[in-house]
Amino acid sequence: MIPYPSPNFDDRPIDQEIKYLILHYTGMATGKEALERLCDVQAKVSAHYLIEEDGEIFSLVPEDKRAWHAGVSAWEGNRDINGLSIGIELVNPGHDSPNYKGNYRPFPEAQMRNLITLCQDILLRHDIKPWHVLGHSDVAPLRKCDPGELFDWKKLAHAGIGLWPTFERKNIQEDNIDTAVFYKKLAQFGYDVERDSHAAVIAFQRHFRPKDISGALDKECFMRLESLLQAKKAIQ
Ligand SMILES: [Zn+2]
Repeated sequence: MIPYPSPNFDDRPIDQEIKYLILHYTGMATGKEALERLCDVQAKVSAHYLIEEDGEIFSLVPEDKRAWHAGVSAWEGNRDINGLSIGIELVNPGHDSPNYKGNYRPFPEAQMRNLITLCQDILLRHDIKPWHVLGHSDVAPLRKCDPGELFDWKKLAHAGIGLWPTFERKNIQEDNIDTAVFYKKLAQFGYDVERDSHAAVIAFQRHFRPKDISGALDKECFMRLESLLQAKKAIQ
């Protein structure tokens, strides 16, 4: 791990434990550019760690300080996600946006391997529940889509980091989908549905059903969400 101190941090709220682990992509052409930005006083952004595509890990902000990675965000009604989380940036040029030509691409093996080791280490040191391992888009569905649908959350879950839904495909029957019930369950899981329910559905799909991020609801979405809620209930 390479120390690369960023000036962009402040104190965490007192008497509150770290409970979330938030994953991002940098959304910039190179890791070097991203490191510069995450250390630029004017930019006012940072993260605790950054992982290059070759797997090199940079340590920017001490874990006991609040890094500035999540911005306006919410989970289970908590709005100070920065105050309660550790943030990791993965170097990846990211999706296109109106003023930026991205080059979103799969996260390389070496980057994933070292991310898994780092996350496992963080989970040993902090009481972070599996359903509190989230992407930036999960906590800010309207503004963000990182780390995105190419990120392998399933692989992480198999390494003991976060949740992944399980269900029997043969049980899927397409009957009427009650969207109001789905939104209620999404909120129960943690998503901020009130602000924009459609954005929350897409964020859910990016994370837990990455092969279909259309925002359209079907029975499979229900089964995946139900499986997550059951897993959450079983561990709680
Ligand atoms: Zn982000």
